[in-house]
Amino acid sequence: METKEFKAESKRLLDLMINSIYTHREIFLRELISNASDAIDKIYYKALTDENLTFDKDSYYIKIVSDKENKVLKVIDTGIGMTKEELENNLGVIAKSGSLAFKKENDAKDGYDIIGQFGVGFYAAFMVADRVTVISKALGSNEAYKWESKGAEGYTIEPWEKDSVGTEIILEIKENTQDEKYEEYLEEYKLREIIKKYSDFIRYPIKMNITNSKLKEGTEDEYESYIEEQTINSMVPIWRKNKSELTAEDYEKFYSEKHYGYDKPVKHIHIIADGAVRYNSILFIPENIPFDYYTREYEKGLELYSNGVLIMNKCSDLLPDYFSFVKGMVDSEDLSLNISREMLQHDRQLKLIAKNIKNKIKSELLNLLKNERDKYEGFYKSFGRQLKYGVYNDFGTDKEMLQDLLMFYSSKEKKLVTLDEYISRMPEDQKYIYYAVGESNERIEKLPQTELVSEKGYEILYFTEDIDEFTIKMLMNYKEKEFRSVSSNDLGIEDTKENDKEEAQEKDNKEIFEYMKKVLADKVKDVRASKRLKHHPVCFSNDGEISIEMEKILNAMPNSQNIKADKILEININHEVFNSLKNAYENDKEKLDLYTNLLYSQALLIEGLPVSDPVEFTNDICKIMK
Ligand code: ADP
Ligand code: MG
Repeated sequence: METKEFKAESKRLLDLMINSIYTHREIFLRELISNASDAIDKIYYKALTDENLTFDKDSYYIKIVSDKENKVLKVIDTGIGMTKEELENNLGVIAKSGSLAFKKENDAKDGYDIIGQFGVGFYAAFMVADRVTVISKALGSNEAYKWESKGAEGYTIEPWEKDSVGTEIILEIKENTQDEKYEEYLEEYKLREIIKKYSDFIRYPIKMNITNSKLKEGTEDEYESYIEEQTINSMVPIWRKNKSELTAEDYEKFYSEKHYGYDKPVKHIHIIADGAVRYNSILFIPENIPFDYYTREYEKGLELYSNGVLIMNKCSDLLPDYFSFVKGMVDSEDLSLNISREMLQHDRQLKLIAKNIKNKIKSELLNLLKNERDKYEGFYKSFGRQLKYGVYNDFGTDKEMLQDLLMFYSSKEKKLVTLDEYISRMPEDQKYIYYAVGESNERIEKLPQTELVSEKGYEILYFTEDIDEFTIKMLMNYKEKEFRSVSSNDLGIEDTKENDKEEAQEKDNKEIFEYMKKVLADKVKDVRASKRLKHHPVCFSNDGEISIEMEKILNAMPNSQNIKADKILEININHEVFNSLKNAYENDKEKLDLYTNLLYSQALLIEGLPVSDPVEFTNDICKIMK
């Protein structure tokens, strides 16, 4: 019997195959099972058009047999089998797919969801086996053949005995090495694990003999082991079932079985898409933050299946970063099994699916917000920050996508509100969307800067997270209304009567403020009479792009460059403190210096900024206590 060499390019390919195309050796089993499933499919499709052929479901299965003693693993199927020529053509030439040819010949359209089409999967067997033997008998043929190969050198084909139609793949498993425990692939538990992981939703039963133990008859504590044939795979995936057949519990069970999370998901989204791109998907919005969510370690992504066969655990291209909390899977028959990560990134189908999914998640979140507010707020407490980052990242590319999902605490409602809700109840004379920044709602509530806006009866959004103000700066406006900090120099509140009065007074007080400004030198940009203060004596307002809160955040970052907000010291001239200032200005300049420094320090403290010299500050207080 002559040994035929693989074609030259096949040799090189085979080498590539064995050493680099697949990252995990265990996928050899996935490939062989997929081929077996394809082979059964082919009989099924033939039976659809051939009257002489019947397809009796029970006679079609895949069987995995492990012989630990001889270190042999067999994958047996009752599929269509291969003729001598087919063995030669399909296994003798790498990158030649009999399955693809079958699809073409049979003018396969819908329903022909055969997995193979690249003609490389079979060779994955050489990643774990020294020798691969294929015994096959084709449908409608009286002869069987044996194909055998030890890898790159070539293969042999000879007539063989086999009773029934189908194929038997026999792998002589490699010896263990220091790095690789090949013998694991003979262990029941390992095989079961691999089958469950990759091939759970193969349509035909994957059977295996499982060793069990039971109580020996007539004894009370003696056990004996027995072998039982079991079907390992669940066959029908939940995502292929009719939505109407499924209950919320079914989805929750799937969520926990898949280890997507330990919590109960807030919402599941089941997509059955049958348009430009066909795919099924089940997505979950988790309730709790995974412990590593806001760290670099967290890996986003969805499980990706091609026709029920897992091809990737975490396909990150399917989710935008701002929805990285979403868990779930996508199954599409339009994707190929052997596709690599690099290829996936450029795959048009995958891009379409990703876009679909993104829009679906958004609309489902909006539904949740509208119909199940409590649940949405629960979700938002966990992942709202991620949405805000989403607005801020990439120079605001996705802000339109996300702005309706944002929520902030409201001074009026005392709970989270959306921007749309804010806008919809704005009085007509209100120009801006007002916000105040601080460490907590309680602290913001007490901020002197909020006094005027509150008195006008305007609603204020409370920003308590670092990212909030940055997010809003990126948004710039919402439905044509600009955002404005209550500390902003220009609040856009016209109060003509008051304004005239104050302007007159400001002239009178100009000299005092000029003097105070000199005392504070470059610490403030200006000292002014306040229009916003009603009861408090002093506060900062803010000129320019960088707010005081942003100054704090930016300076807390590593490599910060001592960024300063332009601060304006505002004095409430209706407060009795102002009388003391006037007095001091007339009679005792040294005292005015002292008061000015004290007021400045107070404004710092109100903002949660450190006073520049605490010792001097306490000394100053002691001076006025004398
Ligand atoms: P692909 O599955 O992408 O076509 P493979 O390398 O996995 O590529 O298989 C090559 C070809 O060998 C298949 O297309 C099929 O025609 C044939 N083949 C492999 N395994 C079997 C099997 N168990 N029964 C029948 N034909 C098979
Ligand atoms: Mg294949």
